[in-house]
This record gives sequence, structure tokens and C-alpha cells, in this order.
Amino acid sequence: MKYLDEFRDAVLANRLLASLERRVSRPLRLMEFCGGHTHAILRSGLRQLLPSSVRLSSGPGCPVCVTASSDVDRAIALASQPGVILATFGDMVRVPGGNASGQANSLQEAKSLGADVRMVYSTLDALGIARVNPGLQVVFLGVGFETTAPTVAAAVLQAAAEGLTNFTVFSVHKLTPPATRAILDAGEVRLSGIIGPGHVTSIIGANAWEFLPRDYRMPCAVSGFEPLDILLAITSLVDMVTSGVPAVRNTYARSVRPEGNLIAQQWMRQVFQVVDAEWRGLGLVPASGLAMRTEYEAFDAARRFPLDLPPGREPKGCRCGDVLRGVVEPTQCPLFGRTCTPDRPVGPCMVSGEGACAAFLQYGES
Ligand code: SF4
Repeated sequence: MKYLDEFRDAVLANRLLASLERRVSRPLRLMEFCGGHTHAILRSGLRQLLPSSVRLSSGPGCPVCVTASSDVDRAIALASQPGVILATFGDMVRVPGGNASGQANSLQEAKSLGADVRMVYSTLDALGIARVNPGLQVVFLGVGFETTAPTVAAAVLQAAAEGLTNFTVFSVHKLTPPATRAILDAGEVRLSGIIGPGHVTSIIGANAWEFLPRDYRMPCAVSGFEPLDILLAITSLVDMVTSGVPAVRNTYARSVRPEGNLIAQQWMRQVFQVVDAEWRGLGLVPASGLAMRTEYEAFDAARRFPLDLPPGREPKGCRCGDVLRGVVEPTQCPLFGRTCTPDRPVGPCMVSGEGACAAFLQYGES
């Protein structure tokens, strides 16, 4: 309990809020990159507690949400191949694709039509399924940012060490700094600072965000996930805006080091190569995805099961792309809470546990 109390100290929170009230003299718009932060902010009521001149926008930091509908279609097509078991984290099962097959529009629908789709909690679970099903091909759907990619790389290295010939990865992993660049380059939202993603940065290191102050004069505060962590990051951003000296500040030093996790980075480099990648909402972002290196092509589902599918389509009326770029808030989507709900989601931002639309509906933000 002491640990939690330390990060939920109401006296300290009030002190930080009072100091923000005193110091913010003009409207500021800050973007939290990470969907985990969006949920923590809404769950704790931080948006209502902040001075009215400080506005928070959610960004593209939900890996399930930013998976392009064409990639969802590919995953559905892979799952529908005879002799294939598709293993995936739970959130992806309900994400709608562009209905390229004309039959199943999600992995869940594919499963109901007979595809062998299994939900797993880790890549090790997927490896375990491959070991006990030597006559079948197990495809792991590799969705996630730099936080998840090292664990998938480790599973591939393990499969190679064991000589498993029935385990492959369909990698749609994505890298967060290039997406942040894409949002700033597009200039659709005028931002004063970025709340840097804590978990991702524990892998890539706080130094990875140095391009923000250097190339964009944009302050960045890397944050943890307790309400006080986020409040501290916001206070830090306001400090930098007020002083006119943008920098990267690491307010999550208990988890994040300047250089990050070098072993995890090495695993990623060993198994994956950086490629251009298609993001929902952002389109094709240069050098923002991870594909399997040719040395590991035996574990690459994209090579083992080549597919020719039409381009993906977005769900009709869904504004997830605009939500992911911070251009609109979920409540500005006409379908929000009406035809699109967690029970009947139209777009991925309502499906995922890190999706902004799900968070806004769950915590009653309007
Ligand atoms: S409310 Fe639903 S339809 Fe609208 S943007 Fe969010 S997920 Fe898409």
C-alpha cells in the first residue's frame, strides 16, 4: 500500500495543480501519445482538475487501433487458411477490418465460420501451441509497439533455437517516434508539448525523444501511469513552455533510463528490420514498422503465406483516424455511444483496452 500511496498523494497533487493554475497564462494543448495514459487520465478525472487553459489530446498510442484495416484483413485471411492456427492477443479478435474476404470482417467472425483463432496472453503461449500441434502451422499476430516487439523477437529466437518449423509471426509492429514525427509534420494540431509513453520509453530510452526539442522545439516529458506521474509530467511540460527551453525530461526515472533497455533493443535489431508501415489514421509512415529480417524468413508469415488482397477500407462513418491524430475527440464522432459502443464497436478505438473512444465512454467523458 505504501507504494501506491506514494503515487496517489492528494496533498502533493493539490500542490501541483495549484502551481499549474498560477503559472499557465495562455492556452496549452498537450498530447499524450499513449493510450494507457489516456485511460489513466480519464479514470482519475485529471482533465477536470487541470486549469481550463490546459487541454489534453490523445494520440496514436494504441497499437490495436493503429493497425491498418488492410492488415486486419490479412490476419483474417491467414486465419482462414487450412491447417493454420492464428494466435493473437485478445483485443485484436474484435477489431473490424475492411471485409476484404466478403465473409468475415473480424477474427471473431472468422472463428465463428470455422477458423482456428486462439487468444493468448504471451508469445510463449503461442510457442506452446506450436509445440503441441506439430502438424499445424501456428501464426502469431505480432501487434504492438517497441514494448511488445522484443518479446516477439525473443519468441522467434527461441523457436529458431528449438528448430520449430511450424511457428511464424505476422509482424505489424510499429515504432512510436516516427508516428510522432508524422503528426508534427502534418501540422493539423498545434501542440505545446508531448507526454512521452512510459512503457515504450523504458525500452527505447528517453534519449530516443531528443529529436522533439532539437527538430521541432517541442518539449517532451516521459511519464509513468499513476495520476501523480502524469501530473508531474504536465507540470514539467508547463515549466519548459514557460521558460522557452524545450527539452526531454524523464519524470518516470524509476522505470526509464536514458539509453533504455539495451538487451531488448538488441533482440529487436536481430530479428526485425525497420520498414515503412501503414498506420490507421496516419497512412504510410516512413521507417515506422518492423518486418522480419531475411535471416529469419522461415518464421515470417508474410513470406510463408503470400496473400493478394484489395486495399483496406475504413468502417463507414468511423472517425478513428481523426481521433488517433488528435484532430477530433471521440465524442465528436457522430457514432460515439449511439451505433458504436463497446458491445457493438464500429471501429478499433472502441474495441481496444487502450482505445480513446472506449476510455471516453467508460469514464463518462462528454
Ligand atoms: S466512436 Fe466508434 S465509430 Fe466513432 S471514431 Fe470511435 S470507434 Fe470509430
